[in-house]
Amino acid sequence: MERKLFEEDHELFRDLAREFNSREVAPGYARWDAEHIMPRQLWKAAGEQGLLGLAVPEEFGGAGMPDYRYRVVLDEEFAKANHLAVGLAFHLHDDMVLPHLLAYGSDNLKERFLPDMVSGDKVTSVAWTEPGAGSDLRGIRTKAVRDDGGWRLSGQKTFIGNGISGDASLVLARTDGSSGRGGRDSFSMFMVEKTEGYKTGGQLDKMGLKASDTAELFFDNVSVPEENLVGEVGRGLEYAAGQLPQGRLAIAVASSAVARQIYEATVQYTKERSAFGERIADFQNTRFALADIETEVEVTEAYVDSAILAFNEGKLDAVSAAKAKLWASERVKSITDRCLQLHGGYGYILEYPVAQAFLAARLLTIFGGTSEIMREVIGRRITA
Ligand SMILES: Cc1cc2nc3c(=O)[nH]c(=O)nc-3n(C[C@H](O)[C@H](O)[C@H](O)COP(=O)(O)OP(=O)(O)OC[C@H]3O[C@@H](n4cnc5c(N)ncnc54)[C@H](O)[C@@H]3O)c2cc1C
Repeated sequence: MERKLFEEDHELFRDLAREFNSREVAPGYARWDAEHIMPRQLWKAAGEQGLLGLAVPEEFGGAGMPDYRYRVVLDEEFAKANHLAVGLAFHLHDDMVLPHLLAYGSDNLKERFLPDMVSGDKVTSVAWTEPGAGSDLRGIRTKAVRDDGGWRLSGQKTFIGNGISGDASLVLARTDGSSGRGGRDSFSMFMVEKTEGYKTGGQLDKMGLKASDTAELFFDNVSVPEENLVGEVGRGLEYAAGQLPQGRLAIAVASSAVARQIYEATVQYTKERSAFGERIADFQNTRFALADIETEVEVTEAYVDSAILAFNEGKLDAVSAAKAKLWASERVKSITDRCLQLHGGYGYILEYPVAQAFLAARLLTIFGGTSEIMREVIGRRITA
Protein backbone atom coordinates (compact mmCIF):
# COMPACT_ATOMS: atom_id res chain seq x y z
CA MET A 1 0.00 0.00 0.00
CA GLU A 2 1.19 3.47 -0.77
CA ARG A 3 2.17 5.46 2.29
CA LYS A 4 0.77 8.97 2.40
CA LEU A 5 2.70 10.23 5.38
CA PHE A 6 5.34 12.41 3.76
CA GLU A 7 5.33 15.59 1.70
CA GLU A 8 7.99 17.15 -0.51
CA ASP A 9 9.80 18.96 2.31
CA HIS A 10 10.21 15.70 4.20
CA GLU A 11 11.84 14.13 1.17
CA LEU A 12 14.24 17.07 0.91
CA PHE A 13 15.11 16.56 4.55
CA ARG A 14 15.64 12.87 3.75
CA ASP A 15 18.41 13.84 1.32
CA LEU A 16 20.12 15.72 4.13
CA ALA A 17 19.79 12.76 6.51
CA ARG A 18 21.12 10.39 3.88
CA GLU A 19 24.09 12.62 3.21
CA PHE A 20 24.81 12.87 6.94
CA ASN A 21 24.78 9.08 7.20
CA SER A 22 27.17 8.54 4.33
CA ARG A 23 29.53 11.43 5.10
CA GLU A 24 29.61 11.58 8.91
CA VAL A 25 28.52 8.19 10.18
CA ALA A 26 29.47 5.46 7.71
CA PRO A 27 33.27 6.00 7.79
CA GLY A 28 33.54 5.59 11.58
CA TYR A 29 30.59 3.42 12.57
CA ALA A 30 32.38 0.05 12.69
CA ARG A 31 35.14 1.55 14.84
CA TRP A 32 32.65 3.15 17.23
CA ASP A 33 30.86 -0.19 17.44
CA ALA A 34 34.12 -1.83 18.51
CA GLU A 35 34.95 0.99 20.94
CA HIS A 36 31.38 1.11 22.31
CA ILE A 37 31.19 4.88 21.98
CA MET A 38 30.64 7.46 19.26
CA PRO A 39 32.70 10.64 19.12
CA ARG A 40 31.38 13.96 20.32
CA GLN A 41 32.28 15.37 16.92
CA LEU A 42 29.34 13.44 15.48
CA TRP A 43 26.93 15.41 17.66
CA LYS A 44 28.49 18.67 16.48
CA ALA A 45 28.19 17.55 12.87
CA ALA A 46 24.54 16.63 13.41
CA GLY A 47 23.94 20.03 15.00
CA GLU A 48 25.58 21.81 12.09
CA GLN A 49 23.36 19.89 9.66
CA GLY A 50 20.28 20.93 11.64
CA LEU A 51 19.36 17.37 12.62
CA LEU A 52 19.06 17.86 16.41
CA GLY A 53 16.28 19.49 18.40
CA LEU A 54 14.05 20.06 15.39
CA ALA A 55 11.10 20.91 17.63
CA VAL A 56 12.99 23.62 19.53
CA PRO A 57 11.54 27.10 18.84
CA GLU A 58 13.74 29.54 16.95
CA GLU A 59 14.12 31.80 19.99
CA PHE A 60 16.09 28.97 21.63
CA GLY A 61 18.22 28.23 18.59
CA GLY A 62 16.07 25.53 17.02
CA ALA A 63 14.37 25.11 13.68
CA GLY A 64 10.88 25.45 15.17
CA MET A 65 9.73 22.31 13.34
CA PRO A 66 7.52 20.31 15.72
CA ASP A 67 6.23 18.23 12.78
CA TYR A 68 7.28 14.79 13.98
CA ARG A 69 7.57 13.45 10.43
CA TYR A 70 11.07 14.98 10.19
CA ARG A 71 12.18 12.86 13.16
CA VAL A 72 10.61 9.85 11.40
CA VAL A 73 12.64 10.54 8.26
CA LEU A 74 15.82 10.63 10.32
CA ASP A 75 15.01 7.32 12.02
CA GLU A 76 14.18 5.71 8.71
CA GLU A 77 17.52 6.79 7.29
CA PHE A 78 19.40 5.44 10.32
CA ALA A 79 17.59 2.14 9.78
CA LYS A 80 18.39 2.07 6.06
CA ALA A 81 22.06 2.75 6.72
CA ASN A 82 22.09 0.27 9.61
CA HIS A 83 23.32 2.99 11.98
CA LEU A 84 20.86 2.04 14.68
CA ALA A 85 23.05 3.02 17.63
CA VAL A 86 23.18 6.63 16.42
CA GLY A 87 19.39 6.54 16.23
CA LEU A 88 19.24 5.35 19.85
CA ALA A 89 21.62 8.05 21.11
CA PHE A 90 19.71 10.82 19.31
CA HIS A 91 16.40 9.39 20.49
CA LEU A 92 17.32 9.81 24.17
CA HIS A 93 18.45 13.41 23.61
CA ASP A 94 15.61 14.46 21.28
CA ASP A 95 12.58 12.35 22.17
CA MET A 96 13.11 11.99 25.89
CA VAL A 97 15.05 14.92 27.39
CA LEU A 98 13.93 17.64 25.02
CA PRO A 99 10.14 17.31 25.37
CA HIS A 100 10.41 17.62 29.16
CA LEU A 101 12.43 20.81 28.89
CA LEU A 102 10.08 22.23 26.28
CA ALA A 103 6.95 21.37 28.22
CA TYR A 104 7.99 22.04 31.82
CA GLY A 105 11.36 23.82 31.85
CA SER A 106 11.70 27.40 33.06
CA ASP A 107 12.97 30.03 30.61
CA ASN A 108 16.26 29.92 32.48
CA LEU A 109 16.61 26.15 31.89
CA LYS A 110 15.57 26.50 28.26
CA GLU A 111 18.08 29.28 27.65
CA ARG A 112 20.90 27.34 29.28
CA PHE A 113 20.23 23.99 27.61
CA LEU A 114 18.25 24.19 24.40
CA PRO A 115 20.65 26.13 22.14
CA ASP A 116 23.52 23.79 23.10
CA MET A 117 21.36 20.70 22.66
CA VAL A 118 20.45 21.88 19.19
CA SER A 119 24.05 22.62 18.21
CA GLY A 120 25.35 19.33 19.64
CA ASP A 121 27.54 21.17 22.18
CA LYS A 122 25.60 19.55 25.02
CA VAL A 123 24.69 15.87 24.92
CA THR A 124 22.00 14.69 27.32
CA SER A 125 20.74 11.47 28.83
CA VAL A 126 17.69 10.27 30.74
CA ALA A 127 18.43 8.80 34.16
CA TRP A 128 15.29 7.23 35.54
CA THR A 129 16.05 3.51 35.88
CA GLU A 130 17.87 2.23 38.95
CA PRO A 131 19.28 -1.19 39.83
CA GLY A 132 16.15 -1.84 41.94
CA ALA A 133 13.54 0.06 39.91
CA GLY A 134 12.79 0.02 36.19
CA SER A 135 9.20 -0.73 35.28
CA ASP A 136 8.03 0.57 38.63
CA LEU A 137 9.46 4.06 38.88
CA ARG A 138 7.86 4.54 42.30
CA GLY A 139 10.63 2.30 43.59
CA ILE A 140 13.28 4.94 42.78
CA ARG A 141 15.56 5.53 45.78
CA THR A 142 17.83 8.29 44.46
CA LYS A 143 16.97 11.23 46.65
CA ALA A 144 17.33 14.99 46.48
CA VAL A 145 17.22 17.03 49.67
CA ARG A 146 17.03 20.78 50.00
CA ASP A 147 20.32 22.45 50.82
CA ASP A 148 21.29 26.10 50.92
CA GLY A 149 18.79 27.30 48.34
CA GLY A 150 19.42 24.32 46.05
CA TRP A 151 19.47 20.54 46.26
CA ARG A 152 21.85 17.70 47.15
CA LEU A 153 21.43 14.56 45.08
CA SER A 154 22.52 11.05 46.13
CA GLY A 155 21.84 7.68 44.56
CA GLN A 156 22.54 5.35 41.67
CA LYS A 157 21.10 4.89 38.17
CA THR A 158 21.65 2.16 35.61
CA PHE A 159 21.28 1.41 31.86
CA ILE A 160 21.78 5.10 31.07
CA GLY A 161 22.30 5.71 27.36
CA ASN A 162 24.71 8.61 26.63
CA GLY A 163 25.66 8.27 30.31
CA ILE A 164 29.38 8.33 29.56
CA SER A 165 29.45 10.67 26.58
CA GLY A 166 26.77 13.04 27.89
CA ASP A 167 27.14 16.31 29.78
CA ALA A 168 23.89 16.34 31.72
CA SER A 169 21.12 14.01 32.68
CA LEU A 170 17.39 14.33 33.22
CA VAL A 171 17.11 12.67 36.63
CA LEU A 172 14.04 11.48 38.51
CA ALA A 173 14.66 11.63 42.24
CA ARG A 174 12.66 11.28 45.42
CA THR A 175 12.09 14.62 47.09
CA ASP A 176 9.59 13.91 49.88
CA GLY A 177 11.93 11.98 52.17
CA SER A 178 9.70 8.88 51.99
CA SER A 179 10.98 5.31 51.86
CA GLY A 180 9.51 2.18 50.29
CA ARG A 181 7.24 2.60 47.29
CA GLY A 182 6.73 6.32 46.81
CA GLY A 183 3.47 8.12 46.16
CA ARG A 184 2.44 10.07 43.08
CA ASP A 185 3.92 13.26 44.52
CA SER A 186 7.13 11.78 45.91
CA PHE A 187 9.39 12.49 42.92
CA SER A 188 10.80 15.50 41.10
CA MET A 189 12.77 15.96 37.91
CA PHE A 190 16.13 17.71 37.63
CA MET A 191 18.64 18.52 34.92
CA VAL A 192 21.86 17.38 36.55
CA GLU A 193 25.13 18.53 35.07
CA LYS A 194 28.39 16.63 35.43
CA THR A 195 30.06 18.16 38.44
CA GLU A 196 31.74 17.09 41.66
CA GLY A 197 30.19 13.86 43.00
CA TYR A 198 28.62 12.89 39.64
CA LYS A 199 30.45 9.72 38.63
CA THR A 200 30.06 7.48 35.63
CA GLY A 201 30.47 3.72 35.85
CA GLY A 202 32.07 1.60 33.15
CA GLN A 203 30.43 0.62 29.88
CA LEU A 204 27.66 -1.93 30.17
CA ASP A 205 28.41 -4.52 27.51
CA LYS A 206 25.19 -4.63 25.48
CA MET A 207 24.33 -7.41 23.00
CA GLY A 208 23.68 -4.90 20.21
CA LEU A 209 23.67 -1.17 19.45
CA LYS A 210 27.24 -1.11 20.67
CA ALA A 211 28.28 2.17 19.08
CA SER A 212 26.22 4.00 21.72
CA ASP A 213 27.39 4.09 25.33
CA THR A 214 25.29 2.77 28.22
CA ALA A 215 26.44 3.06 31.81
CA GLU A 216 25.67 3.27 35.49
CA LEU A 217 25.66 6.71 37.11
CA PHE A 218 26.51 7.43 40.74
CA PHE A 219 25.49 10.62 42.53
CA ASP A 220 27.40 11.32 45.71
CA ASN A 221 25.96 14.42 47.35
CA VAL A 222 25.91 16.28 44.01
CA SER A 223 25.01 19.94 44.30
CA VAL A 224 22.08 20.80 42.00
CA PRO A 225 21.04 24.48 41.76
CA GLU A 226 17.38 25.34 42.26
CA GLU A 227 17.19 26.56 38.63
CA ASN A 228 17.85 22.99 37.48
CA LEU A 229 14.59 21.72 38.93
CA VAL A 230 12.34 20.93 35.96
CA GLY A 231 8.89 22.37 36.61
CA GLU A 232 7.56 21.98 40.14
CA VAL A 233 8.55 19.85 43.10
CA GLY A 234 6.61 16.58 43.40
CA ARG A 235 5.45 16.49 39.79
CA GLY A 236 8.26 14.38 38.30
CA LEU A 237 6.17 11.24 37.76
CA GLU A 238 3.34 13.25 36.26
CA TYR A 239 5.79 14.89 33.82
CA ALA A 240 7.32 11.55 32.89
CA ALA A 241 3.86 10.09 32.21
CA GLY A 242 2.94 13.19 30.20
CA GLN A 243 5.83 12.79 27.77
CA LEU A 244 5.91 8.98 27.55
CA PRO A 245 3.67 8.90 24.45
CA GLN A 246 6.42 10.64 22.44
CA GLY A 247 9.12 8.26 23.72
CA ARG A 248 6.94 5.26 22.93
CA LEU A 249 5.94 6.59 19.53
CA ALA A 250 9.64 7.04 18.75
CA ILE A 251 10.36 3.40 19.59
CA ALA A 252 7.42 2.31 17.44
CA VAL A 253 8.79 4.41 14.57
CA ALA A 254 12.27 2.92 14.89
CA SER A 255 10.76 -0.60 15.10
CA SER A 256 8.71 -0.06 11.98
CA ALA A 257 11.67 1.41 10.08
CA VAL A 258 13.98 -1.47 11.00
CA ALA A 259 11.30 -4.03 10.08
CA ARG A 260 10.87 -2.45 6.62
CA GLN A 261 14.61 -2.23 6.03
CA ILE A 262 15.39 -5.80 7.04
CA TYR A 263 12.42 -7.13 5.11
CA GLU A 264 13.65 -5.43 1.92
CA ALA A 265 17.22 -6.64 2.46
CA THR A 266 15.89 -10.17 2.92
CA VAL A 267 13.85 -10.13 -0.29
CA GLN A 268 16.98 -9.09 -2.11
CA TYR A 269 19.10 -11.76 -0.43
CA THR A 270 16.68 -14.59 -1.20
CA LYS A 271 16.68 -13.56 -4.86
CA GLU A 272 20.47 -13.67 -5.05
CA ARG A 273 21.16 -16.89 -3.15
CA SER A 274 20.46 -20.36 -4.56
CA ALA A 275 20.13 -23.89 -3.21
CA PHE A 276 19.04 -27.14 -4.93
CA GLY A 277 19.30 -25.33 -8.26
CA GLU A 278 16.70 -22.74 -7.33
CA ARG A 279 16.71 -19.25 -5.84
CA ILE A 280 15.88 -19.29 -2.13
CA ALA A 281 13.08 -16.89 -3.13
CA ASP A 282 11.48 -19.63 -5.28
CA PHE A 283 10.75 -22.02 -2.41
CA GLN A 284 7.14 -21.87 -1.33
CA ASN A 285 8.28 -21.59 2.27
CA THR A 286 10.18 -18.41 1.41
CA ARG A 287 7.27 -16.91 -0.51
CA PHE A 288 4.90 -17.60 2.37
CA ALA A 289 7.32 -16.20 4.93
CA LEU A 290 7.89 -13.04 2.88
CA ALA A 291 4.16 -12.67 2.27
CA ASP A 292 3.54 -12.75 6.02
CA ILE A 293 6.35 -10.34 6.72
CA GLU A 294 5.40 -7.83 4.03
CA THR A 295 1.81 -7.84 5.33
CA GLU A 296 3.02 -7.25 8.87
CA VAL A 297 5.38 -4.46 7.76
CA GLU A 298 2.59 -2.62 5.94
CA VAL A 299 0.02 -3.06 8.70
CA THR A 300 2.57 -1.84 11.23
CA GLU A 301 3.38 1.21 9.10
CA ALA A 302 -0.32 2.02 8.77
CA TYR A 303 -0.87 2.06 12.55
CA VAL A 304 2.37 3.85 13.33
CA ASP A 305 1.72 6.46 10.62
CA SER A 306 -1.70 7.16 12.13
CA ALA A 307 -0.07 7.55 15.53
CA ILE A 308 2.47 10.00 14.05
CA LEU A 309 -0.31 12.14 12.58
CA ALA A 310 -2.25 11.99 15.85
CA PHE A 311 0.89 13.10 17.69
CA ASN A 312 1.30 16.04 15.30
CA GLU A 313 -2.27 17.09 16.13
CA GLY A 314 -1.56 16.80 19.87
CA LYS A 315 -4.00 13.88 20.08
CA LEU A 316 -1.80 10.83 20.70
CA ASP A 317 -3.06 9.39 23.99
CA ALA A 318 -1.04 7.11 26.27
CA VAL A 319 -2.98 3.97 25.33
CA SER A 320 -2.59 4.44 21.57
CA ALA A 321 1.13 5.14 22.02
CA ALA A 322 1.41 1.97 24.10
CA LYS A 323 -0.36 -0.01 21.37
CA ALA A 324 1.98 1.39 18.72
CA LYS A 325 5.05 0.48 20.78
CA LEU A 326 3.75 -2.96 21.78
CA TRP A 327 2.74 -3.91 18.27
CA ALA A 328 5.69 -2.50 16.33
CA SER A 329 8.40 -3.68 18.73
CA GLU A 330 6.97 -7.20 18.98
CA ARG A 331 6.66 -7.31 15.17
CA VAL A 332 10.24 -6.24 14.55
CA LYS A 333 11.51 -8.77 17.07
CA SER A 334 9.71 -11.54 15.25
CA ILE A 335 10.43 -10.19 11.74
CA THR A 336 14.19 -9.89 12.29
CA ASP A 337 14.18 -13.45 13.62
CA ARG A 338 12.39 -14.83 10.56
CA CYS A 339 14.51 -12.74 8.16
CA LEU A 340 17.67 -14.00 9.87
CA GLN A 341 16.49 -17.58 9.30
CA LEU A 342 16.03 -16.87 5.59
CA HIS A 343 19.67 -15.75 5.44
CA GLY A 344 20.90 -19.14 6.68
CA GLY A 345 24.37 -19.05 8.22
CA TYR A 346 25.12 -15.57 6.89
CA GLY A 347 22.28 -14.30 9.03
CA TYR A 348 24.34 -15.13 12.09
CA ILE A 349 27.34 -13.14 10.91
CA LEU A 350 27.48 -9.59 12.25
CA GLU A 351 28.70 -8.19 8.96
CA TYR A 352 25.15 -8.74 7.69
CA PRO A 353 22.62 -6.04 8.66
CA VAL A 354 20.06 -8.67 9.60
CA ALA A 355 22.29 -9.98 12.41
CA GLN A 356 22.84 -6.50 13.83
CA ALA A 357 19.16 -5.62 13.49
CA PHE A 358 18.18 -8.86 15.27
CA LEU A 359 20.33 -7.86 18.25
CA ALA A 360 19.19 -4.24 18.20
CA ALA A 361 15.52 -5.18 17.92
CA ARG A 362 15.73 -7.24 21.09
CA LEU A 363 15.95 -4.02 23.09
CA LEU A 364 12.79 -2.52 21.63
CA THR A 365 10.31 -4.65 23.59
CA ILE A 366 12.20 -3.85 26.80
CA PHE A 367 13.26 -0.22 27.10
CA GLY A 368 10.89 2.72 27.26
CA GLY A 369 8.45 0.37 29.05
CA THR A 370 8.38 -3.39 28.48
CA SER A 371 5.71 -5.14 26.42
CA GLU A 372 4.17 -6.39 29.66
CA ILE A 373 3.84 -2.83 30.92
CA MET A 374 2.34 -1.77 27.56
CA ARG A 375 -0.27 -4.55 27.96
CA GLU A 376 -0.99 -3.29 31.48
CA VAL A 377 -1.51 0.27 30.18
CA ILE A 378 -3.83 -0.94 27.41
CA GLY A 379 -5.60 -3.62 29.47
CA ARG A 380 -6.32 -1.33 32.40
CA ARG A 381 -8.18 1.06 30.10
CA ILE A 382 -10.23 -1.82 28.68
CA THR A 383 -11.25 -3.25 32.03
CA ALA A 384 -11.72 0.04 33.90
C1 LIG B 1 20.17 -1.01 26.44
C2 LIG B 1 19.26 -0.33 27.40
C3 LIG B 1 19.17 1.04 27.36
C4 LIG B 1 18.37 1.69 28.30
N1 LIG B 1 18.38 3.06 28.32
C5 LIG B 1 17.81 3.68 29.39
C6 LIG B 1 18.02 5.08 29.58
O1 LIG B 1 18.70 5.74 28.78
N2 LIG B 1 17.48 5.67 30.68
C7 LIG B 1 16.73 4.96 31.59
O2 LIG B 1 16.27 5.55 32.57
N3 LIG B 1 16.53 3.63 31.42
C8 LIG B 1 17.05 2.97 30.35
N4 LIG B 1 16.88 1.62 30.20
C9 LIG B 1 16.11 0.91 31.20
C10 LIG B 1 14.81 0.30 30.67
O3 LIG B 1 13.86 1.31 30.43
C11 LIG B 1 14.36 -0.73 31.72
O4 LIG B 1 15.27 -1.82 31.62
C12 LIG B 1 12.94 -1.20 31.48
O5 LIG B 1 12.02 -0.18 31.77
C13 LIG B 1 12.60 -2.42 32.36
O6 LIG B 1 12.95 -2.22 33.70
P1 LIG B 1 13.84 -3.31 34.47
O7 LIG B 1 15.01 -3.61 33.64
O8 LIG B 1 14.05 -2.84 35.85
O9 LIG B 1 12.94 -4.61 34.48
P2 LIG B 1 11.90 -5.02 35.61
O10 LIG B 1 10.99 -3.90 35.90
O11 LIG B 1 12.64 -5.64 36.74
O12 LIG B 1 11.08 -6.16 34.86
C14 LIG B 1 11.49 -7.52 34.76
C15 LIG B 1 10.37 -8.30 34.06
O13 LIG B 1 9.16 -8.22 34.84
C16 LIG B 1 8.12 -7.72 34.04
N5 LIG B 1 7.21 -6.88 34.84
C17 LIG B 1 7.52 -5.83 35.63
N6 LIG B 1 6.42 -5.30 36.14
C18 LIG B 1 5.37 -6.03 35.67
C19 LIG B 1 3.95 -5.98 35.82
N7 LIG B 1 3.35 -5.06 36.57
N8 LIG B 1 3.20 -6.92 35.18
C20 LIG B 1 3.78 -7.86 34.41
N9 LIG B 1 5.11 -7.95 34.21
C21 LIG B 1 5.89 -7.04 34.83
C22 LIG B 1 8.80 -6.87 32.96
O14 LIG B 1 7.97 -6.71 31.84
C23 LIG B 1 10.03 -7.73 32.68
O15 LIG B 1 9.68 -8.77 31.82
C24 LIG B 1 17.63 0.95 29.24
C25 LIG B 1 17.68 -0.45 29.22
C26 LIG B 1 18.50 -1.08 28.34
C27 LIG B 1 18.59 -2.59 28.38
